[in-house]
Amino acid sequence: MKRSPALLLAALSILLQTGGSAQSKADPARVAKLLNSAVVIDLHDDTTQMITDEAYNLAEKHTYGQIDIPRMKVGHVAGLFLSIWTDTDLFTPTESVHRTLEQIDAVRREIARHPSELESATTADQIVAARGRGRIAMLMGVEGGHAIDSDLGVLRTYYQLGARYMTLTHTNHTPWADTSSKPAVHKGLTDFGKQVVKEMNRLGMMVDISHVSDKTFYDVLATSTAPVIASHSSCRALANAPRNMTDDMLRAIAAKNGVVHINFFEGFLDESYGTRMKTVTPELAEQAALDKKTPKFGDRTAYGPESRKINAKRIAKLGRIPLSKLLDHFEHAVKVAGIDHVGLGSDFDGVEDQLPEGMEDVSKLPNLVAGLMDRGFSDTDILKILGGNTLRVMRDVEKAAK
Ligand SMILES: [Zn+2]
Repeated sequence: MKRSPALLLAALSILLQTGGSAQSKADPARVAKLLNSAVVIDLHDDTTQMITDEAYNLAEKHTYGQIDIPRMKVGHVAGLFLSIWTDTDLFTPTESVHRTLEQIDAVRREIARHPSELESATTADQIVAARGRGRIAMLMGVEGGHAIDSDLGVLRTYYQLGARYMTLTHTNHTPWADTSSKPAVHKGLTDFGKQVVKEMNRLGMMVDISHVSDKTFYDVLATSTAPVIASHSSCRALANAPRNMTDDMLRAIAAKNGVVHINFFEGFLDESYGTRMKTVTPELAEQAALDKKTPKFGDRTAYGPESRKINAKRIAKLGRIPLSKLLDHFEHAVKVAGIDHVGLGSDFDGVEDQLPEGMEDVSKLPNLVAGLMDRGFSDTDILKILGGNTLRVMRDVEKAAK
């Protein structure tokens, strides 16, 4: 992006006054200066569904959702991974291949539609180069190994089409790996699962262990010859969700030179989530009924707006947790894994708007920077968290390809 320091400073002081970190003591000039030199990369955004099903235009500033070009510019995003996700409750693995291709096509067309602002990227160097040209680098990650339909040829094709990580499972088991969301059936990775990991290593595709069971996690670490990532996971010591990372897992990822990208979703940040959700039982039932009506393929345009109406009612009832809860996870992950092993994995557009106060969308990333400054992080450390660590792990995985 072409950045004007004076304009940015003005915008930032407004943001810092009106955002959730109104109490931040960070100097807006320091925040602005840091963001001007940062390569901010977010590893996990679910905007893809809106792009595919509702012709969501990234160039317009929206009053809903968390990602679009105007808001990415305010958030100083340099690179963003769109998640290519297929619902395992809705699609068979074979249907998931179709749905995956549909989404990859929609993403590529959307990037091509905004050539002066967006660039397709697949490598760390391309993210940095796009930033130098004042454009945002758009990347893709496949969320859920079911989408390869147990076929390494399909995996290789996704790589050829631009996907640069794959999350091995979503919330159901694949035929070759256990998820953290269900009781184990494979006891981790099967032999074919190990072949998938090795093929990803050979291709230079990041192996993402967000969502997998603990046993799958340790099997992946024992199998992978390259560093691995958690694209969107937080800390289990602070919020006991089975897909958050234990301290031992944080240390194990660090020992392999990988990166844990912290998820901003309330449910993974704060244990009160379960209790809080009980107060929105009618809205959850309404959403479940809507999900049943949603067609697999074809016109899904009516269902996004309906879903957002339900979300709005939920948020109005629930309110938001404070930004400090998110900062706690960054601080904990850095304390346990080390400063070189933590990054951003917001899960924007995938979490029914249940994000902390002051982190309602991507434009609020300066609040995270200010919050980290308040917690005593140095500029060098914050630059690593914002994207420096991600660039390193991407380069390591690219170099390890054969
Ligand atoms: Zn996810």
